[in-house]
Amino acid sequence: MEKLLLVIGDMENLNLDSLPHTMLDQILSKVATNNIRDFGSARVAFPGFNAIGREDYFYRSTNLIFLNNWIEEVNDVRIFRLRCYHLGNPKVIYLRGMYELFIFHLVDEGREKIHLAGERGCLLAKYVDGMMNLAFSIDDRGLVHNYPGFTREHVDRMSHMITSWKLSGHWDYDKTEMFLSLLERIDANFSYACWCYKIEEPVFVVFIDGSRTEWRCDHCFWQYAAWSFCDEIHLTARDWPIGD
Ligand SMILES: [Zn+2]
Repeated sequence: MEKLLLVIGDMENLNLDSLPHTMLDQILSKVATNNIRDFGSARVAFPGFNAIGREDYFYRSTNLIFLNNWIEEVNDVRIFRLRCYHLGNPKVIYLRGMYELFIFHLVDEGREKIHLAGERGCLLAKYVDGMMNLAFSIDDRGLVHNYPGFTREHVDRMSHMITSWKLSGHWDYDKTEMFLSLLERIDANFSYACWCYKIEEPVFVVFIDGSRTEWRCDHCFWQYAAWSFCDEIHLTARDWPIGD
């Protein structure tokens, strides 16, 4: 609360009215996902925020991927999230799909929602959808086949996101059987037998986080990407109010 008042105080000096609408929109979205109580305070403090907080489009587009779940604000968070969901916010459809898939084990329903969210423009959902199709294309030799259409850089960006502490902070449930068995079946040692492993002067690829690895051919790249996806993705399923 203190932090927000400080921000609003600074903003008054800047004159909030002079800020473009899209910027106000983004500020309010950040406030709401950081602390739902501050969302209410911001709306009280500035009429511009209050006007945005009444608009359907705000709930349709707010990024709830990093929504903070404050234990003492469960109901407010629930109402906020439900409004976003009912207005078709792709990021919330994604979160709901992840919850159904990983917590309720409703594989078809969950994957359908994740796919829909991807179609509606949620980048993370598009990535997860593509990686699931990849992981589930595994054959009986442990090799994956349905390579997604996105670039290696995109895989790096998205996997960096799903392993960030903000998203992967939920450790209070077990890995799902489905992904454990996929993980066991995917041949992670595939590279050792591949031509790209034997290149005499290897080329290095630098990741977003600064670490580096030897370049791999497409087969080896997707094989390893599928394996690490299955190892990590379950950690990003967020809480969703049961029964909604
Ligand atoms: Zn290879």
